[in-house]
Amino acid sequence: MPLYQIATIDGDGIGPEVCQSATRVLSHACGSDLLEFTRCDGGAAHYARTGHVLPDDTFALCRDSAAILHGAAGLPGVTYPDGTEVGNDLHLQLRFRLDLYANVRPVRLWQGVKSPLAGWQAGQIDYVIVRENTEGLYASRGGGINLRGEVATDTIVVTRKGVERVARFSFGLSRKRHGAPRDGKRRVTVCDKANILRSYAFFRAVCEEVAREHADVEIDYAYADAMTVHLVKRPDFYDVIVAENMFGDIISDLGAATIGGMGLSPSAELGERHGLFQGAHGSAPDIAGQNLASPLATILSGTLMLQWLAERHGDARLSAAARRIETAVGQVLAQGDAVPRDLGGSATCTEVTEAVLRRLDRAA
Ligand code: ATP
Ligand code: MG
Repeated sequence: MPLYQIATIDGDGIGPEVCQSATRVLSHACGSDLLEFTRCDGGAAHYARTGHVLPDDTFALCRDSAAILHGAAGLPGVTYPDGTEVGNDLHLQLRFRLDLYANVRPVRLWQGVKSPLAGWQAGQIDYVIVRENTEGLYASRGGGINLRGEVATDTIVVTRKGVERVARFSFGLSRKRHGAPRDGKRRVTVCDKANILRSYAFFRAVCEEVAREHADVEIDYAYADAMTVHLVKRPDFYDVIVAENMFGDIISDLGAATIGGMGLSPSAELGERHGLFQGAHGSAPDIAGQNLASPLATILSGTLMLQWLAERHGDARLSAAARRIETAVGQVLAQGDAVPRDLGGSATCTEVTEAVLRRLDRAA
């Protein structure tokens, strides 16, 4: 009986292709006695067939599994009876019901990938955005007030508890990323608009309080508008960036663009007990089912899953497997074994997956 049960939700669009690719790579790197994947239903297409976005048995399996691996959810044109889009509700429901408060998005430039920012080499762009995932401006999604068709409002919700936990997570992450204290690298940058809105000033103040518990990590601040400039002009400065929900959403797309796009950008959504892992891209319905998608974002999300499980369970086999996959992906990119379409090549999803598998075999 394998040790770790992984709930897998393919979802919509390119979800099934990239999810299957990632499970192939993960199984290969971990062997059959470590991971067991159980596929479950959910998403917009499933809603269109059955009337359920997140079936009860899928939720129970996700809640009770060691981790969740997800392709992507959302299909244009699938709507609820009131006409609103189903979109990626599957994902949003899991996020809130499992309280996945930290959305972790590494931004790393790989060797062999050309950044649209001139002059930056692999290794120089390497930071992590931690997006607060459960409150902020998006907390009132769907709840805005529309006054007789003349005014609409949304509310930013920032709670002490919400900021404390995501800030503690971010300082802890900076420590983990840099072994020795005071090596000049540990830094958490708080991204807000504390100069304009009270909710963001509160976000900053609570981060500042949490910083006092972490004297070995430097705290730094940036207004969200200035942050977009900094991430283009001096991306090498950053280590961990903690941001309110909407700002985190925006700057992580910007960050992804600087390192080769969404197809190379993994994400992890973490709570106290649960973790959901998926590429930062959406379901890309325009290229679904054509074997054109890059599986790399989902494969790299799989390595985040292995690292998270390794730490929770003190299992070094998982972190070793994560490193092997990262090395294999690094070699595929650096040597140009198989270059997916979104990085300017013509390799199919299957070809990229098999190139990663071959590199894993060669390392064995
Ligand atoms: P969402 O609202 O779900 O985030 P989106 O409208 O932002 O969706 P994505 O699904 O993220 O759109 O994709 C945007 C475009 O990027 C797609 O149309 C597709 O061409 C391309 N794309 C996204 N993911 C990949 C991938 N893994 N491989 C190749 N191309 C991709
Ligand atoms: Mg998007």
